[in-house]
Amino acid sequence: MSDFSVTEAQACILQHVQRLGVETVALHDSLDRVLAEDVAANRNHPPYDVSAMDGYALRFTDIEMANPEVAMRLTVVDDIRAGQMPQVTIQQGQAARIMTGAPTPMGIDTVIRIEDTQADGDDVLILTPPKQGANIRPLGENLKTGRVVFKQGTMITPGVLAILAMVKKKEVPVFSKPSVAILSTGDELEDIDEPIDENKIPNANSHALYAQCKSLGIEATLLGIAKDNAQDLKTKLEEGLKYDVLLASGGVSVGHHDFVRPTLEALGMTMHFWRVAMRPGHPLAFGTSEQGTAIFGLPGNPVASMVCFEQFVAPALRQIMGHGKLYRRTLNVRLSHDLKAASGRTLFVRVTLSSDTEGYVATSTGAQGSGVLMSMALADGLLLVPADSEGLRAGEMVTVQLLQGMDFQAEAFGGFNE
Ligand code: AMP
Ligand code: MG
Repeated sequence: MSDFSVTEAQACILQHVQRLGVETVALHDSLDRVLAEDVAANRNHPPYDVSAMDGYALRFTDIEMANPEVAMRLTVVDDIRAGQMPQVTIQQGQAARIMTGAPTPMGIDTVIRIEDTQADGDDVLILTPPKQGANIRPLGENLKTGRVVFKQGTMITPGVLAILAMVKKKEVPVFSKPSVAILSTGDELEDIDEPIDENKIPNANSHALYAQCKSLGIEATLLGIAKDNAQDLKTKLEEGLKYDVLLASGGVSVGHHDFVRPTLEALGMTMHFWRVAMRPGHPLAFGTSEQGTAIFGLPGNPVASMVCFEQFVAPALRQIMGHGKLYRRTLNVRLSHDLKAASGRTLFVRVTLSSDTEGYVATSTGAQGSGVLMSMALADGLLLVPADSEGLRAGEMVTVQLLQGMDFQAEAFGGFNE
């Protein structure tokens, strides 16, 4: 079988993983989970037209001629507070004092901010007219009774959670999360609680994969390190098949000590592919068990393992969790230097993003070997060089998939004096 392209591999994986069931969690525990049902509003909000400002409710035609030389005078006939229904219909030449959030009285079409008026005994003077209809929040601006506010598949952010609170969803139906097991393989690996042995390779993948799962809200189980022999691998892979998803890293290429493939086949797994035309990440296996476990055989090289998680495992996990959106956001940005292509393979280059007056600029994080984990640790995103590219030139527009590194910046937003 020829190698799958990245797109073919993604499609194949998504065909073979299913959404799990629905569970109900308390509102506060629903943050970052995925809504399992459409949610409709059970009230209008605001329940009637309300004032958006502390000020005066009035008839625009009464004050449209106002200007700093010729003030318009209105008689204040009511004082309306939030939560109180107005008693008076405003007639020509009249106004009502009104609080933010208070229902607007009959007869008016505009609210003027208190700062733009002058009180004068029982009257109010207006020097600068607002726009007609200004400062009124219309009935149902936020929520309309019966209307769907969020669709199934919506991820619950703090803002979504606040709306759920407004419609009194104390209990929220969300999709269940999968159980995920992580196994590293290799005789040469040394785990975090072992003393440093210069002849060994520190286990990075188990921990990177654990963190990548955690960033999706999944608490994965670490199954440790399997030795490069059929017996140890079989025991540990069998343990992994008790989970919804098993991530095994290392041992999937065609080396003399790569036992993952024959062991998975011996365990009766159906393997859908073994290689993807990409760099890093050429050896990448995906299969399913009869019990419904999805197994990913990820490359041993730490960068390749992480990049493959982003491109293949994360979308699968999001689909299992019912997400409406499976992929990380991409940006079109300018490239700051030339880049060679990897003929016939989709290339993922680790980049940082900076910005200038013309927008974002992508720059390689340095040495891009698939063992150079630092290139991943420093990256804001992955720049995609298509498999049929003949190389990219400085100044060209390119597509970058954002990673978590873009979440923060040193400068405050809107930090200027008002
Ligand atoms: P493999 O795919 O098993 O041939 O591994 C490829 C390379 O990745 C080798 O240099 C391994 O030592 C390294 N490697 C494999 N697994 C891990 C791991 N869990 N953490 C760090 N490096 C690893
Ligand atoms: Mg190995």
